[in-house]
Amino acid sequence: MGSTSILAGCAVLPPSKKKLTREKKNIGSVVIVGGGFSGASLARYLSILSQGEISITLINREKFFYSCPMSNLVLAGYKSFEYISHEFTSLVKRGVNVLHDEVIEVDPLKKSVRTKTGMFFEADNIVVCPGIDLDFAAIDGFDAVAQRTVLHAWRGGMQTIALRRRLSTLHDGGVFLISIPPAPYRCPPGPYERASLVANYFKKYKPKSKVILLDSNPDIQSKKTLFQSVWERKYRNNLEYVPNIEIAGVDSKRGILFSQFGDNFRGDVLNVIPPNSSSRIAHQADLVTDNDKWCDVNWRSMESVRYPGIYVLGDATLSAEKMPKSAHMANQHSKVAALDIVSKLKGRKKFSNYKIVNTCYSFVDEKSAIFVSKVYSFDLKVGTVKPIEGAGGVPSQESVILGKQAYDWAENIWLDSLG
Ligand SMILES: Cc1cc2nc3c(=O)[nH]c(=O)nc-3n(C[C@H](O)[C@H](O)[C@H](O)COP(=O)(O)OP(=O)(O)OC[C@H]3O[C@@H](n4cnc5c(N)ncnc54)[C@H](O)[C@@H]3O)c2cc1C
Repeated sequence: MGSTSILAGCAVLPPSKKKLTREKKNIGSVVIVGGGFSGASLARYLSILSQGEISITLINREKFFYSCPMSNLVLAGYKSFEYISHEFTSLVKRGVNVLHDEVIEVDPLKKSVRTKTGMFFEADNIVVCPGIDLDFAAIDGFDAVAQRTVLHAWRGGMQTIALRRRLSTLHDGGVFLISIPPAPYRCPPGPYERASLVANYFKKYKPKSKVILLDSNPDIQSKKTLFQSVWERKYRNNLEYVPNIEIAGVDSKRGILFSQFGDNFRGDVLNVIPPNSSSRIAHQADLVTDNDKWCDVNWRSMESVRYPGIYVLGDATLSAEKMPKSAHMANQHSKVAALDIVSKLKGRKKFSNYKIVNTCYSFVDEKSAIFVSKVYSFDLKVGTVKPIEGAGGVPSQESVILGKQAYDWAENIWLDSLG
């Protein structure tokens, strides 16, 4: 099949212009489900590597790309919502067919995709990049009504701004309760960064207010000693960390969370992040292999272990050893997949080893950050991705220099995904 075939629906393609240059040949087609960090980066790299010879369709539910990285700064009032909201215009200019629609069915055998508005696509390669879903049903009382008041703000978008509004109208002396789901979840340091930034905001503007961080896990999941050191020195009066508390129930009307032991925690603003799993469409497509949650992939190519030819990228994958679910990793996955797809369609030899990197900054106030980095290696002889001993690490303390690097990192990862 030379190009994506649209068998029904109303995909609007630009009218064909008389071309002065030689017609580009079309060597194949890719449909990408989800236009977040992994999906958008894949579209960009496929377009660069194939020089326009692959027909690329990117289907994303929302009209905008909402970045979770940097969203905790918005929550604490240090950055605007516009700062983390991006358009897909550069990808469109690159020739990517960007559609704003929801994919409701992926057929992994027929390699086809159906959307909510009735579009139907078949392609040589389907790449599933849908991020995560949240298991509200795991928590008693977390029904549709409770979900309107108890926000997660864990998938970017409007919940970030809604939670910000709640924090900005909280009285001085109010309590902000955050609950962290059991690992693995998206962005291991994300909740601790959120707690630090909101504690910083409280310290400055509502000094009697407090963040209570309830962690389902027995310990801080990332950059532990760095977070502990900052909390001890800067936020002793505004942040309390409680490990081993998994939320079993919520009473949204009274502002109460119930732990697995039956304890009550009362808050004025509740932020519950339910257990994470790969997004619904990955389940529908029969790609989920691990504990009904994550999709195992062949790390050489990023193809599903269940359906070769169907790729899964980003947070939806079953993470390799010590690999976090992060935007940086999602971006790296996309480069591995892009190389594999282009090599395959161009009939080139596929590569048998590569290195990928994760860098993850966390702000502890609006200027200072901490970070962690790690290099991973794939070797066909080993058959999987492994962290390289000694390649990477953490700094000894937070700094403004790292904060500046974190802002630059964000600008550049956005460009590398959408530019
Ligand atoms: C508060 C917070 C802070 C973070 N900070 C960092 C950080 O500093 N650094 C870092 O590296 N990572 C960070 N992360 C993690 C990062 O956001 C994720 O790891 C990353 O977004 C994963 O990329 P993805 O492509 O898998 O999913 P996403 O970026 O979530 O993209 C998935 C896209 O698919 C769309 N989609 C889903 N289902 C469908 C469907 N059926 N049809 C059409 N579209 C669909 C979604 O709407 C979404 O746009 C943070 C996360 C959070 C929550």
